[in-house]
Amino acid sequence: MGGCLFCGIADGSIPARVIHADDLVVAFEDINPVAPLHVLVIPREHIATINDLTPEHEAVVGRLYLVAQRIARERGYDERGYRVVMNCNADAGQSVYHIHLHLLAGRHLSWPPG
Ligand code: 5GP
Ligand code: ZN
Repeated sequence: MGGCLFCGIADGSIPARVIHADDLVVAFEDINPVAPLHVLVIPREHIATINDLTPEHEAVVGRLYLVAQRIARERGYDERGYRVVMNCNADAGQSVYHIHLHLLAGRHLSWPPG
């Protein structure tokens, strides 16, 4: 989708520190990390918000989680713990309108979130 930052990262036209790429998803380091590990996992397909998901997206949504799980394990955070979260629209603080799973680890994460 023209002008979308994360579509640009997915197709390689915008630089990012990519740590995983496959047919469905791309994972890269967040430019403004809020935890020692802060990775974003995105679908290659442009999907603006969770509200735009349809049953056809089941496979790609599953892949987002499996890739987050793998990165957390590879970085040694699987036993200690980590958080995966996806924000939707204004009240949740979504700022980039191409869905992305945040993978956060490496410090205690409070609950409930602010
Ligand atoms: P949201 O607020 O939409 O849930 O999360 C958007 C995330 O994208 C933020 O954590 C922000 O730091 C990250 N971000 C915004 N612009 C860029 C960028 O150009 N490159 C990378 N790697 N991350 C970005
Ligand atoms: Zn996009």
